[in-house]
Amino acid sequence: MDAIVKNFPATGQTDSRPTREQAEEAVRVLLRWAGEDPQREGLLDTPKRVAAAYRELFSGYDLSAEEVLGRTFEEVSGYEDAVLVRDIPFYSHCEHHMLPISGRAHVAYLPNGRVLGLSKIARVVDIFGRRLQTQENLTAQIAAAIEETLKPRGVAVMVEAEHMCMAMRGVQKQGSTTLTTTFTGEYKGNAAEQARFLSLVRNR
Ligand SMILES: [Zn+2]
Repeated sequence: MDAIVKNFPATGQTDSRPTREQAEEAVRVLLRWAGEDPQREGLLDTPKRVAAAYRELFSGYDLSAEEVLGRTFEEVSGYEDAVLVRDIPFYSHCEHHMLPISGRAHVAYLPNGRVLGLSKIARVVDIFGRRLQTQENLTAQIAAAIEETLKPRGVAVMVEAEHMCMAMRGVQKQGSTTLTTTFTGEYKGNAAEQARFLSLVRNR
């Protein structure tokens, strides 16, 4: 859990971050490692593009879920049932191979008098998605961020995703989906609430 909590604030290592030139040189090294000639005309601007793409794909390190979720929430009185945002699309990269993960997140919580702006849940998924991840940690981090800022009665998160490191290499299992769930608070150990969450996610 320590590792999860540590990832709440922006974790961008700005002090030890290399220069753009160093990043571009590293891309040239990887191009040579792949068997390419970085001086080939079609590849001349590639290191620059890859370095820029990395800033965007991994922009989650510079963002804090706490800042996005904020400290003020909309007060609701009388609404106590689950709030569910399902089918939030996301892209991430696995921390083992730095290859893409693509999938959808489903997030529900049981309000405790306060609710989140709906777009904020999707932004939290993005922040943690735009870091190197394992699917298990991604799922737990989304739940923990909502749990600790909103303090609802419970949070349920399901992530379903395809890992390119499984589809493109190794066992080459295209189309297989990995499913992870996390439950906190009143969802935890409550089979009926969990089943209701799963059926709300599944019923279209
Ligand atoms: Zn991987």
